[in-house]
Amino acid sequence: MKRVLGLLLLIVHSFAFEFDEFSSFQGKLSKEYVTGKISRYLQYNQEIENYFEIQDDALVLFKSPEAKRQGIYEFRLVFGKENSKSSVKSKPLDKVRIAIDPGHFGGQFARLEERFIDVDFEGTHLEIDEGRLSFLTAMRLKELLEKAGVSVMVTRKKIGEGVYSEDFFDWLKAHPEYWEKGVALSEIFRRHYNRLDLRERARVINEYRPDLTVVIHYNHVGGGEGQITEKNFNFIWLLTSKFLISS
Ligand SMILES: [Zn+2]
Repeated sequence: MKRVLGLLLLIVHSFAFEFDEFSSFQGKLSKEYVTGKISRYLQYNQEIENYFEIQDDALVLFKSPEAKRQGIYEFRLVFGKENSKSSVKSKPLDKVRIAIDPGHFGGQFARLEERFIDVDFEGTHLEIDEGRLSFLTAMRLKELLEKAGVSVMVTRKKIGEGVYSEDFFDWLKAHPEYWEKGVALSEIFRRHYNRLDLRERARVINEYRPDLTVVIHYNHVGGGEGQITEKNFNFIWLLTSKFLISS
């Protein structure tokens, strides 16, 4: 599974897409280094274990769990002796293109998209919306990456805006079939308009042809009001040649 290797090599600052581009890593990195990276970065997803195997001399990747059972591998990364990334050739940062997609809209749409938290915590009233938080994170990340020389594209341009060019309420006027039956506005937004927006994000990202796409979301754990968690803050990194959204 290419993504396993992509994630691994991301850590060593490579931005490659095709397996032959990984060839510069052959026989370089030690088993200890590779295993350490994998257990640290992939431990949250057990499913992914169906796509790779660590053998004595190589990391072996499979297209599917079925292929793994049959022993038909897609790629073998032969281990070497090195325990650092320094020896491995990487693309210079000023040649790297990164797309950042801050999740949701935030601002005036935060309640409509149901990505809004309103809690009293230790005497303080807190109002947070995910779209605002993801956007502010994107701006900070963009600043840091650009300082390092990376070219950056952020999918949406401000808080309270998506990427789809037609405004939600204009779109709504043109589509009475969705609201004539008395369906809640937030449901229309999430079920229909949001999908158009997601597809537009995918289109914009593909058009930019990034080496890497970062999709930013902030998730919450537990249901109760006032429950503050430090778990499950999501950054999703995708090594992409093609960014797909399925509905
Ligand atoms: Zn989200």
